[in-house]
Amino acid sequence: MANETLKPSAAPVSGPTPRNTTLGKVRTHPTQNEGLIFEKSSPGKRAVKLPPLDVPEVDPAALLGEHLRADLGCMPEVSEIEIIRHFTRLSTWNYAIDLGMYPLGSCTMKYNPRVNEFIARIEGLAEAHPYQPESLAQGSLEVVSLLEQCLIEITGMDAITLQPAAGAHGEFTGILLVRAYHESRGNARRKVIVPDSAHGTNPATAAICGYEVQNLKSNALGMVDVAELERIVDEDTAALMLTNPSTIGVFESEIHKIADVLHAKGALLYMDGANMNALVGKARPGDFGVDVMHLNLHKTFSTPHGGGGPGSGPVACKAILEPFLPTPVLARKRDGSMTWNFDRPQSVGRVRAFYGNYGMFLRALAYILANGPDGLRQTTEDAVLNANYIRASLEDLYDLPYKTASMHEVVFSDRRQAARGVRTGDIAKRIIDYGFHPFTVSFPMIVSGALMIEPTESESKEELDLFIEAMRSIAQEVEQSPELVKHAPHSTRVSRLDEATAARKPILRWRPTALSSQPVE
Ligand SMILES: *Cc1c(COP(=O)(O)O)cnc(C)c1O
Repeated sequence: MANETLKPSAAPVSGPTPRNTTLGKVRTHPTQNEGLIFEKSSPGKRAVKLPPLDVPEVDPAALLGEHLRADLGCMPEVSEIEIIRHFTRLSTWNYAIDLGMYPLGSCTMKYNPRVNEFIARIEGLAEAHPYQPESLAQGSLEVVSLLEQCLIEITGMDAITLQPAAGAHGEFTGILLVRAYHESRGNARRKVIVPDSAHGTNPATAAICGYEVQNLKSNALGMVDVAELERIVDEDTAALMLTNPSTIGVFESEIHKIADVLHAKGALLYMDGANMNALVGKARPGDFGVDVMHLNLHKTFSTPHGGGGPGSGPVACKAILEPFLPTPVLARKRDGSMTWNFDRPQSVGRVRAFYGNYGMFLRALAYILANGPDGLRQTTEDAVLNANYIRASLEDLYDLPYKTASMHEVVFSDRRQAARGVRTGDIAKRIIDYGFHPFTVSFPMIVSGALMIEPTESESKEELDLFIEAMRSIAQEVEQSPELVKHAPHSTRVSRLDEATAARKPILRWRPTALSSQPVE
């Protein structure tokens, strides 16, 4: 809503009623309740009442000198309930997994279990400080160690670093390990192969690590074309970066062979593990030839995602890459206590301050331990079942470009709807009117007009049925009144935004001037 003043929403057009009751309720509030906090300011209002002063009064100027701020820049003066209502109202203007299904493909927007939050708030864990002496931080180090062991077990790898703060950061770290490995053998290589179905971060990672990116075309099944791979891998290939299951939700069934082709030429197999929600408890990358991979704790392991919290992208690797892991590495001393080992001459160095996003480690570990091995396996099975239920329920109305069995997500194309002038982005906007967050649009790029749907295991059959019903109803609208879909959403407080101007000339704050506020750039 960057470039628009807030207006009451237009009356919903005919068609389904928005299902989202929270947004629905807020929308019925009178306009005067919807302003920004600066507009509510009136001189002298206070949100707090301090007790009478019971210490000698001190002149703030004498205490702070030049550091005393003379001009408070027109702070809003409001009552406590006005502040509470302001922030509570703002919190309902966004969509969240806590409101409904969030089928944003490739992002694994699963529910963040409240037990994670309970664990992360236990005082001794929440208040731990990275400068605490090791002797007083043994509990926290045990937590880190246990998470490392769990992730090593889940991936089938030999060693791990928890430092990286996102999936893309994990890729960067992983490819630095690959580079350090080749260089340590006096054999710096120049190329990294990336399939055309890859996430954009993969070629970006290879390039930023100094490699030339070689594109690999997918075959008709949407998988790596092994014959073509065999043709292009040579002694100058450092690695292949492969997402498995791929971005079209397909498991690379020839993964063993892919690994063999690379290893025969001394190249390594990097696996983008962002889609591990399809594999946890069922198959281990370490067992099918992967040398190094990252995980997204904020996807597969249920830690908050996007605006909700910092990410975490651990990198797991085989023993041949262990010497190069970022420093420090957690180690157990002879007396059984834990210590950070900084004496790592071949390390690529630090990739992040301190030890990573510890608050996310706690949440991920809580998730893993609360589920246990059987629970994690069940989670994977449910995620795959949910995606296939959606696939089977929609494939008569939406084009399915790749018929290969789906894992945790399904990718349709807008081919049929495009014939009526409606594109994937229009369908995504329309699904908002039905109370759902849109699926991912126009990605992966090997599918023209992609609708990438990832329900995750969090959704019940009832919620999936509502989504399917909405998608089926939209397909019908495309036939009967395509304009309705092309101008959606109709139920939100703002409809289609000028995304280009919002990106180029973002209005990021309101400048409070007296009682009226004007957007400023
Ligand atoms: C999400 C994702 C990434 C990047 O992860 P971030 O944590 O967003 O940096 C990389 N590859 C794939 C396939 C992804 O889905």
